Amino acid sequence: MERYEAIIVGAGPAGLTAATYLGRFRRRVLILDGGRSRAAWIPRSHNTPGFASGVGGPELLRNMGEQACRYGAERRAGLAETLSRTEDGFALRVVDAGGRAAELSAPFVLLATGVIDRLPALQNLEAAIAAARVRMCPICDAYEAIDQKIAVLGDDDLGAREAAFLTTYSKDVTLLHLGQPSALRDPAALAERGIEVLPVSIGQLAVDVDGVSVALADGETRAFDCLYLALGCEMRSRLAVRWGAEHDPAGNLIVDAHQRTSIDGLYAAGDVVRGLNQIAVAAAEAAIAATDIHNRLRALDDAEKPRAQTSAPSPGLAMTRFG
Ligand SMILES: Cc1cc2nc3c(=O)[nH]c(=O)nc-3n(C[C@H](O)[C@H](O)[C@H](O)COP(=O)(O)OP(=O)(O)OC[C@H]3O[C@@H](n4cnc5c(N)ncnc54)[C@H](O)[C@@H]3O)c2cc1C
Repeated sequence: MERYEAIIVGAGPAGLTAATYLGRFRRRVLILDGGRSRAAWIPRSHNTPGFASGVGGPELLRNMGEQACRYGAERRAGLAETLSRTEDGFALRVVDAGGRAAELSAPFVLLATGVIDRLPALQNLEAAIAAARVRMCPICDAYEAIDQKIAVLGDDDLGAREAAFLTTYSKDVTLLHLGQPSALRDPAALAERGIEVLPVSIGQLAVDVDGVSVALADGETRAFDCLYLALGCEMRSRLAVRWGAEHDPAGNLIVDAHQRTSIDGLYAAGDVVRGLNQIAVAAAEAAIAATDIHNRLRALDDAEKPRAQTSAPSPGLAMTRFG
């Protein structure tokens, strides 16, 4: 079994930030890269701190990965299939793309496994996302849709909430509603905000790099500049939830102020945690988790040292946080 001081599951903004911190704390840290990060979908992010003219998701991930490896983090492709408790931490069973399995262990594990967006079965969807015609996150990029003709696709009240949010940016917002009318809690509030509600089925929608259209039953076609998907997502929290980690009804992990889950030694950061799904938040949570892990490793280091060495005046540094 290969032993590390910390294993990070997930190589998105959260996992890669934590790896940089732990590498710089001179820890033996592994990042387990299970494949495509959600950030890889981002055509260009304009709200990521430090990138005044924006940054593409793949470029950001490349830079973050390079930064983590520069400070000694080890990166390995593979999916964590199971997580189990050991006497001194956790064991992970990892399988790579070729089906080869390996057992890894560490006293501390950080889950930075993100979420999976629910996507409609539409042709050209990937190309339309790359062209920012189809979007997934109004907090991320509604600013870039100011005064556009915006459609929102939803099947429950999430669509109504996103449509209402988007009225800060455009007077022309239409909710394309897939669900039953009763799934909308307050249709009158939508009307008050000038949001039109169009009941649709997926078959009526077409998306491509030039725009979005809906073929209506009466033969009319409605065109939009962009379409926001408000279909929700699935949390990749299974590894922790299986062990009884505290989570909300949607499966978001609940953590304390140090990003600790309710399972001792198991941390979580980024989209998989209840909170705002944003790169800046993922990075901040990862920095907090990595620093707490390092401090606990320091306490373990001290406990293992012969008594004579630790009896020197020690101002309780083991759990100190700086800054
Ligand atoms: C189209 C789009 C545009 C966006 N634009 C912006 C923006 O402009 N600004 C912004 O702040 N945010 C934006 N976001 C949101 C942003 O991408 C996410 O908040 C961010 O990627 C979350 O980072 P994360 O590390 O938590 O998760 P992710 O980036 O999703 O990374 C999770 C990683 O965990 C891995 N993983 C999962 N399970 C396992 C397992 N069992 N074993 C091994 N690995 C595993 C995955 O393969 C992946 O590599 C956008 C999202 C989308 C989809």
